[in-house]
Amino acid sequence: AREIRLKSRPSGLPDAANFELVTRPLETPAAGQILVRNLWMSVDPYMRGRMIDRKSYIPPFQIGAALEGSAVGVVVQSGDAGFKEGDMVSHFAGWRDHALVAAAGATRIDDRKIPAQAYLGPLGIPGLTAYVGLMRIAELKAGETVFVSAAAGAVGSVAAQIAKIRGARVIGSVGSEEKAGWLRDAIGVDAVINYKTSGDLTKALAEAAPEGIDVYFDNVGGDHLDAALASAKGFARFVLCGMIAQYNAETPPPGPRNIFLAVSRSLKLQGFIIGSHFDLMPDFLGEMSQWIAADRVKWRETVVEGLENAPDAFLGLFRGENFGKMLVRLGAK
Ligand code: NDP
Repeated sequence: AREIRLKSRPSGLPDAANFELVTRPLETPAAGQILVRNLWMSVDPYMRGRMIDRKSYIPPFQIGAALEGSAVGVVVQSGDAGFKEGDMVSHFAGWRDHALVAAAGATRIDDRKIPAQAYLGPLGIPGLTAYVGLMRIAELKAGETVFVSAAAGAVGSVAAQIAKIRGARVIGSVGSEEKAGWLRDAIGVDAVINYKTSGDLTKALAEAAPEGIDVYFDNVGGDHLDAALASAKGFARFVLCGMIAQYNAETPPPGPRNIFLAVSRSLKLQGFIIGSHFDLMPDFLGEMSQWIAADRVKWRETVVEGLENAPDAFLGLFRGENFGKMLVRLGAK
């Protein structure tokens, strides 16, 4: 079996030398365990934070140990009565082609109507994150104006679509014309800003939302947060989901210069970590399956082939190389 380990802790933007591909003997599942041949794995921006040796909401990756993350695969050997060979499962032991997983840590998935890798995207953690952010954190209401950053990404693209389904006016920001075109034409987002070509983002957002925004779904931080503060209506809610613009920062990034607007406009800024909101999973899966079946939620994916290319797929997230969910294909069913 092969796995990707953290070889050294990156400073700034990681590079290939921070990772190593290692071959190890294939294990046999003990009682209560299953052996899964992984077919797809996810790379996610939050993994950058786990490469830093610090106390956080999730423990840091250890040097010399395999990285971890969401994956889906097929059970090839089972030591647990709840699973049999051939079952498709999602679990948390990605970054390796074979995973020994505690049965309690695996969830059976149904890939008959929806492809297995969707459970790493719109039907998985990214989709749930968008749902929780809008429904529970922002308490979005019909008729409101929502600004979503990284709007063609895994979380952002679902957030933009749930906001539309819920009757909001949606403004998205993205880093390419191709992404902007898809949001406008295929998704029906009301206004799109290409932050790489728009010039002053604060001005661009003010033009796209002349009456201001009620909700900001922040995936980016930095100047996006600054611009959203400047366009916030009184009592607007800010969903602090992620701040990818600062994950590779070597020195502490500057705070939003206009944060006093949070006071003067009575804003509510609330962060969240999706692991604390899994209670909404059944509601989410129920609604999302219907939206997908009715073609009301669409998605894109960027597929990188082969475990050995997983580090590059991960790094691609910081270069905006993914259109929708960034996935690594490890094998076929
Ligand atoms: P995405 O699929 O959105 O991929 C990242 C995207 O971010 C890139 O494609 C790129 O798109 C954009 N980006 C990268 N660097 C920058 C930058 N410097 N400035 C602006 N945009 C940038 O990733 P996810 O959907 O998986 O994650 C989105 C956000 O949600 C992340 O911040 C992540 O940490 C967070 N998250 C939080 C969770 C939680 O529990 N709170 C759970 C899951 C995700 P473009 O081409 O448009 O620039």
